[in-house]
Amino acid sequence: MGNGNENNVKLKVTGLAKRYIDPPVQALKDVEFEVYDGDFFCIIGPSGCGKSTTLRLIAGFEKPTDGQVLLDGNEVQEPGPDRAMVFQDLNQLFPWKTTLKNVVYPLKVNKLYGSNKNRMEEAQKFLRMVGLDEKFDSAFPHQLSGGMKQRVAIARALALDPKVLLMDEPFGSIDAQTRTTLQQEVMKIWEETKKTILFVTHNIEEAILLGTKILVLGTDPGRVLELFDNPVAPPRLATDPDFGKFWKTLYNLLGHKDE
Ligand code: ADP
Repeated sequence: MGNGNENNVKLKVTGLAKRYIDPPVQALKDVEFEVYDGDFFCIIGPSGCGKSTTLRLIAGFEKPTDGQVLLDGNEVQEPGPDRAMVFQDLNQLFPWKTTLKNVVYPLKVNKLYGSNKNRMEEAQKFLRMVGLDEKFDSAFPHQLSGGMKQRVAIARALALDPKVLLMDEPFGSIDAQTRTTLQQEVMKIWEETKKTILFVTHNIEEAILLGTKILVLGTDPGRVLELFDNPVAPPRLATDPDFGKFWKTLYNLLGHKDE
């Protein structure tokens, strides 16, 4: 609420269900939510509640058993560059391509920015935006730290200029200190680019730190428990009493016992 874009629905999920056959799992049932233009929309929930499944359905990697995903009013049918994804996996880059070529390649495949020269320039712009120095443009993924690889993955996704940026626990495999830095970088990028971001995490602090909205999912079947507007005022310091209060609310909602 309060950011003046409530009428501008970017993504609408209605009656979404996903049932896997082998093994039989009702991964999602009757999931409904709306994401507005410019939201930093965090999805949180325990392991197995269908967070990744939700993102994969939005990305178009899988088809729902029931329900719809609407992006700007159009039903998602297949993957597309308007929904770029950043995964948790630190091996999502092409190992045989340099940093720069990793970012340029999808731009070429999708015939964006007109010419190779423009694509190189755009790729460099986004690599600088995620804080990677020019000297790493010619490095290969195996020469980069985990945090740097995730920066490249984020630059690659941003360069596609997607309508929504999908991030599936992007910092889940990153050490705590680097994770804090990357969270701050993503916040800065979100403020600069005004991108609509869907960000999956199972970490309560991360959701409170980043999200303007926080969707809480529950398990068995994967379903919506509650959608919150983040009540903690930026810069959302852990020392803010509102932070602690909201943390407790989420902690309890996620099925932990009140202490
Ligand atoms: P989360 O991301 O919240 O941990 P997932 O979306 O990965 O949850 O999984 C939701 C449920 O669906 C889990 O029970 C998981 O085991 C199951 N599941 C996910 N992908 C598949 C698949 N390809 N085949 C069968 N079951 C799956």
